[in-house]
Amino acid sequence: MRRLPLTLLALGSLFALPANAFGWNERGHKTVAYIAYQNLSTSPSNNVRKRVDDLLKLNPYYPKWTQNVPAAQRGLAAFLGAAVWPDDIKSDGAYGESPDCAEAVHTNAFQDKERHRPWHYLDIPFSFDGTPVEQQCPHNARTIINAFRARLAATSAPGVPDLEEEKAYDLTWLIHLVGDIHQPLHATGRFSANRTHGDSGGNKYKIKPFTPAGANSAAADLHTYWDHVLGDAQSTQSIGALAGELTTRFRREPGDPPTDEAAVAAWLSESFVLARYFVYELDKEKVGQADPAVSDRYNFYAQEVARQRIALAGYRLADLLNQNLK
Ligand SMILES: [Zn+2]
Repeated sequence: MRRLPLTLLALGSLFALPANAFGWNERGHKTVAYIAYQNLSTSPSNNVRKRVDDLLKLNPYYPKWTQNVPAAQRGLAAFLGAAVWPDDIKSDGAYGESPDCAEAVHTNAFQDKERHRPWHYLDIPFSFDGTPVEQQCPHNARTIINAFRARLAATSAPGVPDLEEEKAYDLTWLIHLVGDIHQPLHATGRFSANRTHGDSGGNKYKIKPFTPAGANSAAADLHTYWDHVLGDAQSTQSIGALAGELTTRFRREPGDPPTDEAAVAAWLSESFVLARYFVYELDKEKVGQADPAVSDRYNFYAQEVARQRIALAGYRLADLLNQNLK
């Protein structure tokens, strides 16, 4: 693992890091996870849910996730906790920043104390006004999902170091990242004359403060608005209710769709198109204000897009684990 002197890290955090790129908020990520967990295979020949339950016990946060939780519910509680672990370590003092384009592949599982912020997204760049665009690091949500998915599918051979800890680490990230890349603003960044280095997936795109229904605070930028467009409630009961609503309305795709590299690229492409042709259309709703305002109409459709993306992410995460986890 590469280490930088503290001063360099401090400078890096001032100039190189994106603003608060959180993906869905806790409610969004946990709803993805709840749907996925209900759809994990429990067949005797491929009991993926049991395998996942066992692997997550290796995460150092496991005691925290399952504190005061009855034994029968600890598997789900850990899976929901894992869904937000990559965000939780952003404010955990035991973890530090990594250089923006840090190497992707590591082999030290939970000994890795880097936050790996660039892993959370693939900001496919675009511009409305001809501003030249910049590419993101070579290591991003797509490359990490592909690498970690492959490692979940590997089997330990005699004489080869045990893969269990790495699989536990990779699994934790995958539960989070499949959710992230279904948030449209985790798949794009807009470059413009007044944002020549991009808007960091809408983090630097200011909006007139808006509080979505059920949210505890107003969002003042486009990314934060999308993160909590379905509210902030995060009790397991509330997450279960939302998951139930979404799985009733949006049915699982039939036929066990493959979750290979092409599929991951397609999920990102869907998010990019939604961002490019819907999310950023907010500009057109701007009426004489310094920052665009979220209209009731925009908010209605944004919530609908979010519901669909969260349901899809849940089903696809289940498919990915059912097909690959060995
Ligand atoms: Zn994230």
